[in-house]
Amino acid sequence: MTAGQSGMARCINLAALQVLIQLLAGDGYAVIGPIRRDDAIVYDRIAGITDLPAGWTDDQGPGHYALVRRGDDALFGYAVGPDAWKRFLHPPVETLWRAQREGDTFTLAAPRAPAPRYAFLGVRACDLRAIAIQDRVFCQGAYTDRSYADRRRNAFIVAVHCGGVGGNCFCASMGCGPRVDAGFDLALTELVDPAPHRFLIEVGSEAGAAMLARLDSEEATSSDLDLAESVFKRAASQMGRHINTRGLKELLQTQPHHPRWDEVAARCMACGNCTMACPTCFCTTIEDHGSIDESSAERVRTWDSCFTLDFSFIHGGSVRQSASSRYRQWLTHKLAHWIDQFGVAGCVGCGRCITWCPVGIDLTEEVAALRMATDPGSTVSHEHP
Ligand code: SF4
Ligand code: SF4
Repeated sequence: MTAGQSGMARCINLAALQVLIQLLAGDGYAVIGPIRRDDAIVYDRIAGITDLPAGWTDDQGPGHYALVRRGDDALFGYAVGPDAWKRFLHPPVETLWRAQREGDTFTLAAPRAPAPRYAFLGVRACDLRAIAIQDRVFCQGAYTDRSYADRRRNAFIVAVHCGGVGGNCFCASMGCGPRVDAGFDLALTELVDPAPHRFLIEVGSEAGAAMLARLDSEEATSSDLDLAESVFKRAASQMGRHINTRGLKELLQTQPHHPRWDEVAARCMACGNCTMACPTCFCTTIEDHGSIDESSAERVRTWDSCFTLDFSFIHGGSVRQSASSRYRQWLTHKLAHWIDQFGVAGCVGCGRCITWCPVGIDLTEEVAALRMATDPGSTVSHEHP
């Protein structure tokens, strides 16, 4: 159910947004939202609306990210930064168990502290889809990752529709945005102009409806609804990039020896930035750490990347020794094998891998080049038509 669909569209003002954050904190949630830090917009604990990046937006291109001033005080007037919500739901470092020596024996203990209760404020449509993909990976296969499932079950999600999009966004091509459609408790559309600064608010769950009932809200006017519609249309028309997904799985799975893999590998540094920034990449490795006095040890799970040599190490060496084989593995897994494995592509079109690649490798350009080489009649550019 959404407020708009049920004819109960409501609006809240800035004061009510502040109350929402305070109510969530009062209910025991760690409220995580966008903040400006280190010249980027990242996600961290917030106490109120003054922590939000008012009046800032992001200028993005291949290998390029810069914060610039907007001409208004929008709180959510940027696209996505280097952070993804997976940092909270699937932490980069997680201790699985600890062992403590006691004389000639030892005890094992799994750290089973209660899972944190996160309230995420400002989740974009692409990132909602990324969370849904990680739900499949961690909770809907043969095995359930208990720590992810616990954190996910506890989460309260306040989504925000994109009002303007980044130069590397292509969520529309992937069918993942820019309009939020599911997977949230509450969803906001920021209406900045004309004043007053306010938010159209939609309900996506029972918990969201209960929270909205605790806020001061007003019935949305027809001009509020028209303005929100223009926000959706503007975002959809501003996609910086485009990917032609027609037959993409077959295209990638039938091109293992294409010379384009070597061309991209000549630029790729195999640094793994793309996998770290990607909101759907989920691979991990396991490390055992022992104390120097041999009194204790712990097993730790950390994010890993298919761009490292160690990632494909089996007895005798690494299976994927060349950068071209590792880039090919990443791209074909994301856009082809992932569909065989999980029923959906592993890409939501957020553009982070393009922005945060130090040499500006652009997967939409790589796909367009592969398509052009196999289908010279193809005229679909990777830049937005
Ligand atoms: S592959 Fe790139 S564009 Fe696609 S979801 Fe990952 S980071 Fe975003
Ligand atoms: S594609 Fe870019 S970000 Fe990814 S491993 Fe290669 S150089 Fe690093």
